[in-house]
Amino acid sequence: MNTFIVRCGEIALKGMNKPYFERMLLERIRKNLKKYKGIEAKRQEGLIFVKAPAEYNVDEVINDISRVFGVASVSHALEVESELEIIGQKAAEYMLDLMQRRNIQTFKVEAKRADKTFPMESPRIAREIGGYVLKACKVLSVDVHNPQCVLYINVRKGRTYIFADKIKGMGGLPLGTNGKGMVLLSGGIDSPVAAWMMAKRGMVVEAVHFHSYPYTSERAQEKVYDLARIISTYVGRVKVHSINLLEIQQAIGINCPEEQMTILSRRFMMKLAERVARQENCDMLITGENIGQVASQTVQGLVVTDNAVEMPVMRPLIAFDKVDIIEMAQKIGTFETSIQPFEDCCTVFLPKHPVTKPKLDRILESEEKLDVEALIQSALDTVETVVIDPQR
Ligand code: ATP
Ligand code: MG
Repeated sequence: MNTFIVRCGEIALKGMNKPYFERMLLERIRKNLKKYKGIEAKRQEGLIFVKAPAEYNVDEVINDISRVFGVASVSHALEVESELEIIGQKAAEYMLDLMQRRNIQTFKVEAKRADKTFPMESPRIAREIGGYVLKACKVLSVDVHNPQCVLYINVRKGRTYIFADKIKGMGGLPLGTNGKGMVLLSGGIDSPVAAWMMAKRGMVVEAVHFHSYPYTSERAQEKVYDLARIISTYVGRVKVHSINLLEIQQAIGINCPEEQMTILSRRFMMKLAERVARQENCDMLITGENIGQVASQTVQGLVVTDNAVEMPVMRPLIAFDKVDIIEMAQKIGTFETSIQPFEDCCTVFLPKHPVTKPKLDRILESEEKLDVEALIQSALDTVETVVIDPQR
């Protein structure tokens, strides 16, 4: 078996709720590692210990653990008996191997004694173990200020853990600790990142996507499922509801000023998303909107869009620069899919000169020319729901 130590980061700050957050994190780790048969995960004194059968690739297991929201860092550790001589010998073997693989010349030992019955205080443990290592690896020397490698010794009841790497996790909070949100998921760069950011704060996400089939293709729809699939590698199953917006767009086209097409469509999107969100017991809507990015996302545009619904709308990207959003999309792995050139329902009916400073009363006036409720009902009849599973 390979042993992994998982640290919980921000969860440690949660006071009385700490056990709850830890339990949720443990559950999420178990779910994310389901594909590894025979894996074990348990909670112990503020840490989570994962054991995976030796046949599984260590880097892959680490990667899967580090993707779980709420994980601060992971270490692949050598587990030995809490006996000074054994710890010393194993630590020396461990360093010898590491030294050869990484060409290390300097190191230091950091020891932590979680088990206070162990008959030696932490600084002394560090010195003793350092002695064992130096004796076994003659070319190594200790550098306490700027070592090439830190050898960690974590002494616990009965078992001691030896490791040199702390691999940074995603951080955030365990999924399911902060309600549920419905993301308006286009095929673009922004909305998948927005969904990911909210999920990272513990929010379960579902998605609604609008298309204008047959003006938008099936391939464009597939692209949205592909994006949901990437998100699902972080959060598990994701439900995607697809709605045909064509009838609404045509009704706007016939009855309303051309320049209001985008902003009116966006209000319908919000209303439809809100209906589905209520049905699915979501607490909030999530969009990838960003101030000033396009004509419909000016301050006035956002005010008019926001006014369409009662449910709170989360816009986690509101103040980000596009370059920073792109960087995040690359980091989480959605960028390459997002930039595939497929048409979006908004681009199909893009007005030549969209209003950039829409006035709410004017927009409401236009909306009055439409049978809003009938159009919403008719669009809701087109909902198709697909559950995206990360394992597929
Ligand atoms: P994105 O990269 O997310 O597509 P964008 O810069 O293209 O963003 P807009 O097209 O104006 O911006 O859309 C703003 C937000 O509205 C999107 O981030 C998304 O949340 C939502 N949205 C836009 N089009 C759709 C769609 N076809 N289906 C679902 N949501 C959409
Ligand atoms: Mg878009």
